[in-house]
Amino acid sequence: MVERAGRRGTWWMVGLVVLAVAAAGTTYSVLGRRAEEPATAGPPSPPVTRPSAAAGSSGPPGDKRMLAEIDAVLKTRASAVRTGQLAQFLQHLDPQNSALRRRHQQLFGNLRKLGLRHLSYRREGGWVPEPQPQHGSEARAFRVMMLVQVTGIDPAPRFVPLGYTFAERGGRWLLVDDDDLAGEQDRGTYREPWDLGPIEAVRGPGVLVVVPANERANGRRLVGEARRATPAVRAALKRSPAGVLVIAMADQRSMDTGWQTGGHPAAAVAVQNFSPVTAAATRFEVTGSRVVINPTERTKADRFLLAHEFTHAAMAPLGGKAPTWLVEGLAEYVEFRLTSRHGDHQRVADRRRTLLRQAIPAVRRLPTDNDFRGAYDEQSYGVSWIVVEYLADEYGISTLNALYADLARGPEDAAARERALRQHLDTSEAELVAAVKEYDG
Ligand SMILES: [Zn+2]
Repeated sequence: MVERAGRRGTWWMVGLVVLAVAAAGTTYSVLGRRAEEPATAGPPSPPVTRPSAAAGSSGPPGDKRMLAEIDAVLKTRASAVRTGQLAQFLQHLDPQNSALRRRHQQLFGNLRKLGLRHLSYRREGGWVPEPQPQHGSEARAFRVMMLVQVTGIDPAPRFVPLGYTFAERGGRWLLVDDDDLAGEQDRGTYREPWDLGPIEAVRGPGVLVVVPANERANGRRLVGEARRATPAVRAALKRSPAGVLVIAMADQRSMDTGWQTGGHPAAAVAVQNFSPVTAAATRFEVTGSRVVINPTERTKADRFLLAHEFTHAAMAPLGGKAPTWLVEGLAEYVEFRLTSRHGDHQRVADRRRTLLRQAIPAVRRLPTDNDFRGAYDEQSYGVSWIVVEYLADEYGISTLNALYADLARGPEDAAARERALRQHLDTSEAELVAAVKEYDG
């Protein structure tokens, strides 16, 4: 349910409808290793959800001064992280709130470990600050846009939503709390890894793995797995993600409770990164993906799982409107190709044979987005894999890539998809389904 709402729901972003995308999942159930766990990651929060009032220059002069001071505080904090000045980072925190100070000292250390190319904070201009009387009569919570870019990983600064509460203490506007807006519905329930205690960051080619501070060995292991997954993705797709942040925390809050399907939490999710495309940050585009591994899977996640998620990451910048059968089928295809060549060939062959014998003969149409889980019960992933494997065998990866790119741009309606099949494959959906039934692997 959440998957559908997340994936296909529409979110308003400054007048633009932005589709929630980012499919993800794992596939091991089919191979009997664990439950198939596709999931989707929602979009970033719409930066503007409320009418503008206090944000503009039309407010009372006191508001103008307050906003200017708050903006200056945000600027100082960003520059403190960039230059490694802890005292500067903490200087605008409420001196009486020791828990907040400890939290932000940790945050500072964590952000420094990531190796950032860019960090900035900006107030979300169109949002009315929310009174927070528990921090004093004048205290107000602001939505703040954190823009963070990891060196060598993110092609652009990614948008991270924050809720910061400021209050005037002794004539100065200070940050007095950082979770008063945590319950905002569009924020999701997950937390960024740097907010979850001390971290370590382990780098590899095109990958940065973030783990709890005492799990560096697992970070190094995951870098090793990623080193095997990335070439497999590139070889299969003739493309690969620019860089991927892999999050493998022990804290369950690193996963959104909505990243699940069929009642099971996802084993891993490729979560799309949104970056502003306009200076005013009124429009966003997908510039990459990060991979969040379920804490329960973090020590087991392997190159095959990563190949699946890296496929999503590689394809995500093309757009979010490709049909789910193609999104997941392609990730399965890349993963099983790697499994077959450098893992358990027999298991993949057995799985293919079972699908061709049992599930494919019953197929009447391609799995649809809305009932991806329902159309063929638990076989949607398997059926999609077979369809994509057939397409790759029959038409080649460049045609498949061109079809994907076309479909990913949208629109999502059935007629447009039928046109794309006709254009790239010279076939209709019905003819494609008929051809897949003849496919013998
Ligand atoms: Zn997936």
